[in-house]
Amino acid sequence: MSETLGFDTLQVHAGNRPDPATGARQVPIYQTTAFVFRDADHAAKLFNLQEVGYIYSRLTNPTVSALAERVAALEGGAGAVCCSSGHAAQIMALFPLMQPGCNVVAANKLYGGTIQQLGNTIRKFGWSAKFVDFDDLKAVEAAVDENTRAIFCESIANPGGYITDLDAIAKIANKVGLPLIVDNTSASPYLCNPIKHGATLVVHSATKYLTGNGTVTGGIVVDSGKFDWSASGKFPSLAAPEPAYHGLNFHAALGGMAFTFHSIAVGLRDLGMTMNPQGAHYTLMGIETLSLRMERHVANAKKVAEWLEKDSRIDAVTYAGLPSSPYHSRIARICPKGAGALFTFAVKGGYDACVKLIDSVKLFSHVANLGDARSLIIHSASTTHRQLSPEQQIAAGAGPNVVRVSIGIEDPADIIADLDQALAKATA
Ligand SMILES: *Cc1c(COP(=O)(O)O)cnc(C)c1O
Repeated sequence: MSETLGFDTLQVHAGNRPDPATGARQVPIYQTTAFVFRDADHAAKLFNLQEVGYIYSRLTNPTVSALAERVAALEGGAGAVCCSSGHAAQIMALFPLMQPGCNVVAANKLYGGTIQQLGNTIRKFGWSAKFVDFDDLKAVEAAVDENTRAIFCESIANPGGYITDLDAIAKIANKVGLPLIVDNTSASPYLCNPIKHGATLVVHSATKYLTGNGTVTGGIVVDSGKFDWSASGKFPSLAAPEPAYHGLNFHAALGGMAFTFHSIAVGLRDLGMTMNPQGAHYTLMGIETLSLRMERHVANAKKVAEWLEKDSRIDAVTYAGLPSSPYHSRIARICPKGAGALFTFAVKGGYDACVKLIDSVKLFSHVANLGDARSLIIHSASTTHRQLSPEQQIAAGAGPNVVRVSIGIEDPADIIADLDQALAKATA
């Protein structure tokens, strides 16, 4: 679809064409495992990547492909691959780049589960991560060594209130010749397009704002198509004969689509972290209203953050949309339509008051999720960031006196009233 179309048009139309079999206006849910080949020659061409088509739904499926195309269009990418979860998307992003002994330089302000995944679990593959404060640009560059294969951060970083200077990080990635991977979950493509700031790969948890209603677990990797995988000799899976795919050199054969095709032909084929067509359908439905929801999320978050900041029961509010935030000045450049709807606030009374607050809310849901139409609340230190050390919790912005909220699209007065009554109980 034309790149000149606006975001609101693309979110409804990209990847959606009338179904060739029935003329169905909406993308049908192709609930099928396999696709019949026209003949033996057709089958052989599909397996050789000489012709693009559908073989088996672990690899590709028309409903899932429509979603990949839509998110690629919204992010300004060349291609995309859908996965079973946001965490699957992160592994799928790293998989073609890494070998045993390789590392990724990652921001220390990340979703708690990502700190676990990169800090501990990927070691089982022989990979590792070095966590660095991404405001310390010298430290980021110094952390890169000859075995580094990627730089990883979030645009608006979990648990909220932090905006990464993507331009500055991309400049370093460019200088050292490595791909920059940006988790754009908390911003959504409506608020931020990391590829415009120099990102190579963008990962999403579709579980959050993209679907927007808390019904799906899914993930997506978008490739800019712009990285030269052949330049450094560091990416043999993409730019040398790949033994996992009968010696095909993906970059030589497919150019800007090398990452996307490798992710399908090898990544999904062998790791199997595939999105199902039902999940893709719900996410497609959600994305149709992404811009409308994000506008309301941002407007509500701003109102709630402003109210909290003035309240005497609160010690601090870390929302980049507030002029008091040290990251406020980055909004105009990185996410000009708003700083998202995820932030934390510190409650006078510390850990105990936070727990009481969580137990006293009525409208807010106490869940380990974000980006739902409903307002959500969690005490990160006792839940999502529980397995981190106290130092890691504080570095990640999830100290014991801090509550994280994901502000929904309800009436802002009702959201504020609920926090007001719960704070009264928590600080009584
Ligand atoms: C939720 C989330 C993830 C993980 O996504 P899942 O779909 O839960 O696997 C990764 N990064 C961020 C920023 C998230 O919010």
